[in-house]
Amino acid sequence: MARDTGAACRRCRREGLKLFLKGDRCYSDKCSFERRAYAPGQHGQARFRKQSDFAVQLREKQKVKSMYGMLEGQFRQYFKKADLQKGVTGENLLIMLERRLDNAVFRMGFASSRNQARQLVRHKHVMVNGRKVNVPSYQVIVGDVVTIKEKSRANTMINESLEAVERRGVPSWIELDKKGYASTIKALPNREELTMPIQEQLIVELYSK
Ligand code: SF4
Repeated sequence: MARDTGAACRRCRREGLKLFLKGDRCYSDKCSFERRAYAPGQHGQARFRKQSDFAVQLREKQKVKSMYGMLEGQFRQYFKKADLQKGVTGENLLIMLERRLDNAVFRMGFASSRNQARQLVRHKHVMVNGRKVNVPSYQVIVGDVVTIKEKSRANTMINESLEAVERRGVPSWIELDKKGYASTIKALPNREELTMPIQEQLIVELYSK
């Protein structure tokens, strides 16, 4: 499956926000954003210019796309599905993105970034309800039990991520059994729990033009 492989730190600097795309590095003083909190490129430090409404909406969409490692086509598909659902389109969109298996594996603490989580899923280290699932876009549902395959439990990357999970915290819709390398989806994620500064309405406005 295609994914965005552009320089992660540049994306944080472009959006003016830490997007936490590089796992542990993001929490260390090696974080590029901590050292250069301005846009990349020759004019990155230029005087602030007022952005048009379109530019603001576009940046918001790009930010969320980067956070979840999406390409434009995939992201638009999510938007279309979210728009067809009952309720508020922007919230539906964010909840669908949160329910992706790679995101859930990241939130559970088995990986230190969504990219790493996607790799774990693609490489068949992850099981859902006892069955191997290697599709990062799989939508978790209430009651799903996500486990790390027995043979993969000695994986250093997974264990280091689990050690560091307290720092990030596990959202309340997930119940983590650290020793059992298992997590249960207790409820669907809700908008209030997404603490990243996202204005999803701007994305809806952009796509509704
Ligand atoms: Fe963003 Fe992480 Fe790079 Fe910092 S280290 S700029 S948070 S991707």
